[in-house]
Amino acid sequence: MIRANTDRVLRDLYHLRSIGTYRTGVHRPTLSAEDMQTRHWLAEQLQAIGHETTIDGIANVYGRALGDGPVVLSGSHIESQNHAGWLDGALGVIYALEAARAVAEAGIPGGVDVIAFADEEGHFTEASFLGSESFVGDVTEEMMDRSVCRSGRGRLRDLLAQAGLAGRPRLAIEPDRYKAFFEAHIEQGQTLESEGLQIGVVTSIVAIWQYRITFEGAQNHAGTTKMAIRRDAGKALMQLWQRIEEEFPKIVGPDSVWTVGRVTLDPGGPSIIPGGAEMIFQFRDADQQVLDRLKARLFALVEEAGRGPCACTIEIMGESKPAIMYEAPQAALIEAAKTYAPGKYLVMPSGAGHDAQVIAPLVPSAMMFVPSIGGISHHWTENTSDEDIALGAEVFVDAIGRVLSAD
Ligand SMILES: [Zn+2]
Repeated sequence: MIRANTDRVLRDLYHLRSIGTYRTGVHRPTLSAEDMQTRHWLAEQLQAIGHETTIDGIANVYGRALGDGPVVLSGSHIESQNHAGWLDGALGVIYALEAARAVAEAGIPGGVDVIAFADEEGHFTEASFLGSESFVGDVTEEMMDRSVCRSGRGRLRDLLAQAGLAGRPRLAIEPDRYKAFFEAHIEQGQTLESEGLQIGVVTSIVAIWQYRITFEGAQNHAGTTKMAIRRDAGKALMQLWQRIEEEFPKIVGPDSVWTVGRVTLDPGGPSIIPGGAEMIFQFRDADQQVLDRLKARLFALVEEAGRGPCACTIEIMGESKPAIMYEAPQAALIEAAKTYAPGKYLVMPSGAGHDAQVIAPLVPSAMMFVPSIGGISHHWTENTSDEDIALGAEVFVDAIGRVLSAD
């Protein structure tokens, strides 16, 4: 049995919070000077426990345990959203580092390889999770050539060069090396807190299906065009939105969520009937049947909308796959939670996307959550109590120990 040193976990997390500090959070976008500072710091920590350490050609930091015996891979992302929280990503990286240290210090056979992925937060175009998708071989050199920063900091290639990473090879996962992949993360929701719980064991990670829906009507004068002859694209959009809100509740699963995240009217003038309108619509669920059902209904509603005065078309922007977590590492987390947080854990789906969903098809993967105060995330006020951070580390490290020592 291996134990986490929770003082060391908190000390390391507070250290990362001191790099790129923004109010009580951090601003460390991928490949910024502050982001690279944390990556080099992590590499030093991994070297200090004897790991063979690399920062690869896409800024993934990887520390490989040397020696014989079973190996677990663990990690998360280390960059932050812009002006956001201190724990989103960093928590999972420091828990992984702690697990690697605890195993190394215990002198038991086997080890923990640690990875801090680049750009889980999607600062760059061409992939949702650039670092982990590169690690599993889904990012081509052409995608890297095309990739640019969404906040205008420039081309991925140029920023990699500034960071001193140009031309470095990109690491590729060795699936057969690992008994399991473990990722810890803040919950980023309110389920654990509202139920007074401290640990979430993740069963599945939702798929996100996103669509661009476009209406084409007739642009005209808002004062002189009679209501009866208008072809108002904005109104047609609003009516579709209303139909979705009527129909979806009848067919969703218990955990389904759906969002109109953006609406644009063209040309968007106060005295102009919109001739064009666009909405970005997404829904999330972990159940393939529910996803298929929602998509079929959405497309039927779009067809229905197109029978009105405006043409209506739908374009698929993304349809990711739900990732189901594996039973064995998940069971290890549950056993560890029973030991350190009896009655205080919940087996639950993840409503947010994570690197673990990219790794899951190749290595048996499991995820663990700690509570987010007020459910807040992607904002600098994001926080988790020190007590919950410490407890999470105990459970996480214990679960990895269980997997390493299992037959
Ligand atoms: Zn995250």
